[in-house]
Amino acid sequence: MCNAFGLKREIPAATKRLIRQRCGFGCVICGLGIVQYEHVDPEFKNAKEHDPEAMALLCPGCHNKVTTGMWSKSRVKLAMRNPKCLEVGYSREFFDSFQNHPALRFGGVLLKNCQTPIQVGGYPLISIKPPEGPGAPFLFSGTFTDSKGEVTLVIEDNEWKAYTRSWDVQVLGPRITIREGHRKIHLVLKANPPDELVVERLSMLLAGMKFEANGDLLRVTMPNGVQNDFTYCVADNCQVGMAF
Ligand SMILES: [Zn+2]
Repeated sequence: MCNAFGLKREIPAATKRLIRQRCGFGCVICGLGIVQYEHVDPEFKNAKEHDPEAMALLCPGCHNKVTTGMWSKSRVKLAMRNPKCLEVGYSREFFDSFQNHPALRFGGVLLKNCQTPIQVGGYPLISIKPPEGPGAPFLFSGTFTDSKGEVTLVIEDNEWKAYTRSWDVQVLGPRITIREGHRKIHLVLKANPPDELVVERLSMLLAGMKFEANGDLLRVTMPNGVQNDFTYCVADNCQVGMAF
């Protein structure tokens, strides 16, 4: 589908990434990390090109308020000058509310019914708190660092925050993909609702240890160079699932 100027609806991938980077990977107004690409000025029907400087990320809620005329375009333009995510330093969104004890697939390891699925250097890397009352969800928290040891994504009581200092954060369907550079994926985290999170890809340095996940393999390289590979491992009903 094209507009009157022959411009296709489809936005090239490199342009989308530029828009994400300019907007801090989330809605320019409210900072939510599930987003749509909006031609702000000119609107799509009058646009001759997909110009990243004239486009913005909006979450479906804010986008709808603008397209229905509840909010003005000038509100979006104002937010584009000072995007919410760049102001606070992260984009954010909630995972599904975990009514059952959430499970974590971490490369080749399935961790379920563990209070601390992964512990590194005596500290919980991933932890799960029981519901605070009847009908309340389990609360999942965790931290991910990139291959240089910089924190890129934290999960605090089921809310994820992706820091804007990353090169690229892309949310497509249930997957959050974080890249350190061109073709350099550091994390693919997939929500598998209602009760599972899956680390499909990972390249993480933490406490001198290298954690690499790819599909059904988790490789942990210790500071002394010793490698441990984990495939099809299950930790069920332990206080601590894995400790390094
Ligand atoms: Zn929004």
